[in-house]
Amino acid sequence: MAKEDQGLAIGIDLGTTYSCAAVWREHHRRVDIIHNDQGHNTTPSFVAFTDHERLIGNAAKNQAATNPQNTIFDAKRLIGRKYSDPVVQKDMMLWPFKVVAGANDKPMITLNYKGKEKQFCAEEISSMVLVKMREIAESYLETRVKNAVVTVPAYFNDSQRKSTIDAGTIAGLNIIRIINEPTAAAIAYGLDRRNNCVGERNVFIFDLGGGTFDVSILTIKGKMFQVKGTAGNTHLGGEDIDNRMVNYFVEKIKKEKKLDISGNPRALRRLRSACERAKRTLSHAVSATIEVDGLSNDNDFFSSITRARFEEINMELFNQCMETVDRCLADAKMEKRSMHDVVLVGGSSRIPKVQELLQDFFEGKDLCKSINPDEAVAHGAAVQAALLSVGIKNVPDMVLLDVTPLSLGIHVMGDMMSVMIPRNTTIPVKRTQQYLTSVDNQSSVKIKVYEGERTRSRENNLLGSFKLSGFPRAPRNHPFDVCFAIDENGILSVSAKEETTGISNKMIITNDVDRLSAEEIYKMIQEAEEYKAEDKKFLRKAKTMNKIDDYAYNIKKALEKENFSSKVCSEDREKISSAITKATELLDGDQQDEEVDVFEDHLKELINLFERFVEKSD
Ligand code: AMP
Repeated sequence: MAKEDQGLAIGIDLGTTYSCAAVWREHHRRVDIIHNDQGHNTTPSFVAFTDHERLIGNAAKNQAATNPQNTIFDAKRLIGRKYSDPVVQKDMMLWPFKVVAGANDKPMITLNYKGKEKQFCAEEISSMVLVKMREIAESYLETRVKNAVVTVPAYFNDSQRKSTIDAGTIAGLNIIRIINEPTAAAIAYGLDRRNNCVGERNVFIFDLGGGTFDVSILTIKGKMFQVKGTAGNTHLGGEDIDNRMVNYFVEKIKKEKKLDISGNPRALRRLRSACERAKRTLSHAVSATIEVDGLSNDNDFFSSITRARFEEINMELFNQCMETVDRCLADAKMEKRSMHDVVLVGGSSRIPKVQELLQDFFEGKDLCKSINPDEAVAHGAAVQAALLSVGIKNVPDMVLLDVTPLSLGIHVMGDMMSVMIPRNTTIPVKRTQQYLTSVDNQSSVKIKVYEGERTRSRENNLLGSFKLSGFPRAPRNHPFDVCFAIDENGILSVSAKEETTGISNKMIITNDVDRLSAEEIYKMIQEAEEYKAEDKKFLRKAKTMNKIDDYAYNIKKALEKENFSSKVCSEDREKISSAITKATELLDGDQQDEEVDVFEDHLKELINLFERFVEKSD
């Protein structure tokens, strides 16, 4: 991936259901949202395969009902995930197209194209959508477009971000930066309001789109946009609302027409389109009709739904959104009253009940709706694209800071996770820390990299490991450096180096490593809260054990020295050696499960012995 590039760069919001492109117009000093060949500002993220051709965007979506098995949408839900991922398994049940497990458990979309069976991975489908967005931009701008900033949900993990970059590469685009969707929206928003901004402004971004839900807290101060915290759900959005409506009508049809359409993909697709239309209507009317001609075997279907019933069907989803809002504030340790602005982003944020719940949550605060929720993300991406392009003039000057969603660190003695980069650290970031070997003449160390909030390594998520070999012969506590670096796109690399020999090794967390999904990240953060007391106790014990090990080692070394033996009487030597035996039993034997007090008492005894005899003998 290139860093900065000469020439025109556009911003692309690659959405689960719709995508949108925008460009900074330097002469007009503003962002233009790029409309497609149909005059629409957003383009469905759909790709369809027929006997004769491949269709992308509106053309693909329009024929979905007649060709459901070969019309692919939701590729973003598959990107960077394994086939066996429970989220994928759950999604598959609702898709009319087929997904099978490929090599390395990669989900492969299986379909018929020009009469032959074909398989595509999610990156390929997303790349086709990106190609379409590039073509739309090229015909609007009447020039070639090579470079783009692409947005992803804030909680996309490393693997999903990399897969998005891969999709760009397959599309022949140079992805100059991946940025978080709510951050992009904040750029758009910040630009609108910056002139009114006195001092620091806390902004809450509520982004409920077609397939994902993201909330973020940002602080805007002068030209700095800093993300203070993020939370979200990669599986909550307009499509889930549509699903609930579809299920509701499937049951209604069963009851009223004695017709089961649940196994009929074509009928389901047609019903889904009608439900989505009705949902949009319900954002400005109190009831909407559902009309599907020829739903199944010449059966037409006409019905209606009120806004009240719509809200009842979806209340559980709306409440989940509010729980996430609450959690994000708690995580960022910020009060809802300290939010200066609450900004709505994403098509589904137009739903009146969602707005009502959000407004109630923020104690009646007016919600900011001035940015078109479908376009805000692409708008921000276009500004970022212009900022990264060399030679583009009149771009507003600003610095964008993002944060890490989970703490990152390495495994150290006592099954402890030593945190190198705490959660919510601003990226890009690079940190180096010195560690020590744990045994004499240790020739290598294994660096095990974890992400998570628990004190014990094994309770966190192992991202990968590598070995640093070739250490010089030396007593334990020989130093070596470990460096963690996260780049602008949130991609982590870890390196280790031993100074005297210069030996080094490194690892980049790659696509095939299982990173956590957004749901798992939330679960982990919640668990860390629940187990805080337990973790504290474990940490106390682990630290005491390490200290016992240190003191026992130093006393043992001293015992080997001549001048020590000569100064200590045989009775005291007896005491010292039995204390060391007890230490070994506590650390390695069957007494490991003893309460922390037992360890602390013994540590006191060792410290006492050390101070009485060893220090004096030096
Ligand atoms: P986005 O991913 O931000 O483009 O959002 C697309 C989602 O917003 C789709 O699920 C749409 O059905 C939904 N949407 C768009 N307009 C409305 C509206 N007026 N009322 C409710 N949902 C809408």
